[in-house]
Amino acid sequence: MQYIPFNIPCVLGTEQKYLTEALERKELCGNGHFTKRCQSLMEEKFQAQRVLLTTSCTSALEMCSMLLNLQPGDEVLVPSYTFVSTVNAIILRGATPVFVDVRPDTLNIDETKLEAAITPRTKAIYVVHYAGVGAAMDEIMAIAKEHNIFVVEDAAQGVDATYKGKYLGTIGHLGAYSFHDTKNYNCGEGGALIVNDAQFIDRAEIILEKGTNRKKFFEGLIDKYTWVDIGSSYIVSELNAAYLYAQLEAKDTICKKRSSVFERYKAGLSPLQAKGLIFPTIPKDCVHNGHMFYLIVRSNQERTQLLAQLKAKSIQAVFHYVPLHTAPMGQKVAAPAKLPVTEDLSARLVRLPMYYDLTNEQVDTVIQEILTFFK
Ligand SMILES: *Cc1c(COP(=O)(O)O)cnc(C)c1O
Repeated sequence: MQYIPFNIPCVLGTEQKYLTEALERKELCGNGHFTKRCQSLMEEKFQAQRVLLTTSCTSALEMCSMLLNLQPGDEVLVPSYTFVSTVNAIILRGATPVFVDVRPDTLNIDETKLEAAITPRTKAIYVVHYAGVGAAMDEIMAIAKEHNIFVVEDAAQGVDATYKGKYLGTIGHLGAYSFHDTKNYNCGEGGALIVNDAQFIDRAEIILEKGTNRKKFFEGLIDKYTWVDIGSSYIVSELNAAYLYAQLEAKDTICKKRSSVFERYKAGLSPLQAKGLIFPTIPKDCVHNGHMFYLIVRSNQERTQLLAQLKAKSIQAVFHYVPLHTAPMGQKVAAPAKLPVTEDLSARLVRLPMYYDLTNEQVDTVIQEILTFFK
């Protein structure tokens, strides 16, 4: 039996040429040639006002919380069904996460439950575009505007996907992308901050440079650089940027391949819908990027059995997330929450192998094993 892992990071082969070029340039620290090329490519392709490469999506989210001046006493609405980084970014500034339930169809934050969670202390909504499928951004932005609060998009999984024709990450005040090796376009570890509100651009460049105005110095706009704000080391090496550039350049090819795997799973597994299994829903306003194909089975016990069966057949399917409000840290930092949809669906969700090099035969093997399990 050939082992089918859950993920293999995409390596196209074209990365080599840019890595060699980066080595020949002998400028390996951040903000160099390939960093600029990656940023311009994204600004152009995603129609983003300003993109800054970062060491990870985690760092980009931390930058968002600094830019919004989150502080103790502030509350941020956020799903519990997400990766820890979305919420760490809030508590690292001493602010309080307020968990809001997700929609049963997309597992994105439920926009109809936001108003009830808003208090005079609410400073922002941190939206996650789960599985590269857009949250209801029109409704979310309207609520934010009415209450004068900010919207941050955690688009770690949503790079290159759209909502009403706009790229995810470019709709809220700030957005964050991930180029971790489990994401569609990767450089091992990497990310980007998307600045859509011009008031944040200058300060974002300072925070990225450890709180100094070094960027303006290099641009010749000031004659010495100095410490002016908080910040950290969020700039990515040119080696990562060179690798990433090859991936971004081929983004359409990668996206097409992953989307075709998604469609093949969907078609092959469609008989299971009659048995009560739930497939990803793509709202009509959204174009997804083939980040993930998941199934929601009928019980937690059924999930355990299915994963064990697939493992016995050398197929690595996985689940996530354990809702953060039930995790030890979540219970320490947030008020107890009742999130019935999150608790129910997270206990039944299964992610199937999804990566660029997955062949049709391998997808068919996974499909056959799952159909056999449910026979
Ligand atoms: C992957 C992921 C992150 C973290 O990305 P890194 O680049 O590894 O920091 C954050 N949020 C979500 C929703 C993710 O899927």
